[in-house]
Amino acid sequence: MTVQGKHITIIGAGLAGALLGTLLAQRGWQVDVYEKRGDPRLRGYEGGRSINLALAERGRHGLRLAGALDAVMAQAVMMRGRMVHPLDGPVNLQRYGRDDSEVIWSVHRGELNIVLLDIAERAGVRLHFDRRLDGVDFDARTARFANDRDGSAEAVSFVSLVGADGAGSALRAAMKPHVELGERTEFLGHSYKELEIPPAEDGGFRIEPNALHIWPRGRYMCIALPNDERTFTVTVFLPNADDPEKGGPSFASVRTGADARALFARDFPDALPLIPRLEHDWEHNPTGLLATLYLDRWFLDERAVLLGDAAHAMVPFHGQGMNCAFEDCVALAEHLDRTTDRARAFADFQAERLPNSRAIQRMALENYLEMRDRVDDPDYLLQRALELK
Ligand code: FAD
Repeated sequence: MTVQGKHITIIGAGLAGALLGTLLAQRGWQVDVYEKRGDPRLRGYEGGRSINLALAERGRHGLRLAGALDAVMAQAVMMRGRMVHPLDGPVNLQRYGRDDSEVIWSVHRGELNIVLLDIAERAGVRLHFDRRLDGVDFDARTARFANDRDGSAEAVSFVSLVGADGAGSALRAAMKPHVELGERTEFLGHSYKELEIPPAEDGGFRIEPNALHIWPRGRYMCIALPNDERTFTVTVFLPNADDPEKGGPSFASVRTGADARALFARDFPDALPLIPRLEHDWEHNPTGLLATLYLDRWFLDERAVLLGDAAHAMVPFHGQGMNCAFEDCVALAEHLDRTTDRARAFADFQAERLPNSRAIQRMALENYLEMRDRVDDPDYLLQRALELK
C-alpha cells in the first residue's frame, strides 16, 4: 500500500477518535482528525456530561497499546467495589473481585481526553479543532466542515471516513441515504442528572474514595464516583414520568431545587449533607437522556465506517460504553493493518465487534435493574459472597 493509500480521516476527537488516531499513526498511517469543539487544552474541556467514567481492563488494553496507560492511571482513582448505601442500616462494600487485582478505575473524562489528544499529536496525528462535519459527498469523496466559532466552512477530500463522532453521529446521518443501516434507538424512559460532592474541609475525600457508591432505591438510584481532585460526581437516575401505580419520584415531579432537597431528605438522607450546591446544580445542570442505539450495519463499502457510540451507544449502567469504544479502536486498527482492501477490513471489523457490542448493550440494560433494585437484597448478597469464595 502506498503512503497516500494509508491516509484516513476520523470524525470526532473524543475518546475513541483520539485513541484510534494514535493506534493508526503508530502503524504508519497518515491520520487527520476533525473535531467540532475547540481544543480542550487551550479552552478548557466543554464535555458537559458524565464528568467521570469507570475504566475497566477492556479499556485499559487499548490505552496500553497506545502508550497512554501510565499517563491515564496517574490521574485515576481505584474502585474496589460497590459501596451500597441502604435506606436503613450500615453501608457495605461489595468487592468486584477477590483482591486489588480485580478492580475498576474512575477517570475524569476531560483529563482522559487531553491525555489522548497529547499522545495522538505526539504520534503524528493532525488534529483539526472547530471543524464540525456538516455533510459528505460520497461520490466526489469530499467532506464539508463548518467552523461554528467564526462561521467559515471548508471541503476536504478523503479516502475513507471513520465516524467517532458519538451517539448523534453526523457521519451516520450522511451514510443513511447510501446504505441501509437498520438504525433504531430505544429510549430507556429514565434520565440522569449530575451533582457534586466537594472535598472535605481538610482537603480530603468526604466519603470512602476507593469505591463506586450506590444508593439503590428500587425504581431509581443515585451513584457517586470519585475524582482525583477529591470530589465525587453524583449521578441521580430517575424515571422521566410519574408512575401512578408504583409511585415514586420522577423528573416530571422533581423539578425545582426544593423538590430535589425533599427527595434527598427522604430517600438519600446520608448523601444530602455531602452536596452543598444541590438546589443550584439540580436547577442548572442538564438532564441527560438515556438510550440504546442499534445498527445492523456499520460501514459503507470502503468509504465510511462507524465505531464507539456512533455505532452502538448504550445506557451507562455497566460502565462499558467507553471501554467498548476502546476495544473497537484496537480491532479496527488491526483489521486495517491486515489488508489493503478497506471494505473487507470494515466488514471484518463489524463481524467481530457488532455481536460483542450487542451483548454489552444487553448487559448494560440488565445491570440497571441489578444496581437500583438488587444490590441491597440479602439473597443477592449471599449469592455474591458465595461467588467470591
Ligand atoms: P464521544 O465521547 O461522544 O465523542 C464524540 C466526539 O465527536 C466528541 O468530541 C464530539 O464533540 C465530536 N463530534 C460530535 N459531532 C461531531 C461532528 N459533526 N463533527 C466533528 N466532531 C463531532 N462508559 C464507560 O466505559 N464507563 C462509564 O463509567 C461510563 N459512564 C457513563 C455515564 C453517562 C451518564 C453516560 C452518558 C455515558 C457513560 N459512558 C461510560 C459511555 C461513554 O461516555 C461513551 O461510550 C464514550 O464517550 C464513547 O466515546 P466516543 O468517542 O465514541 O464518543
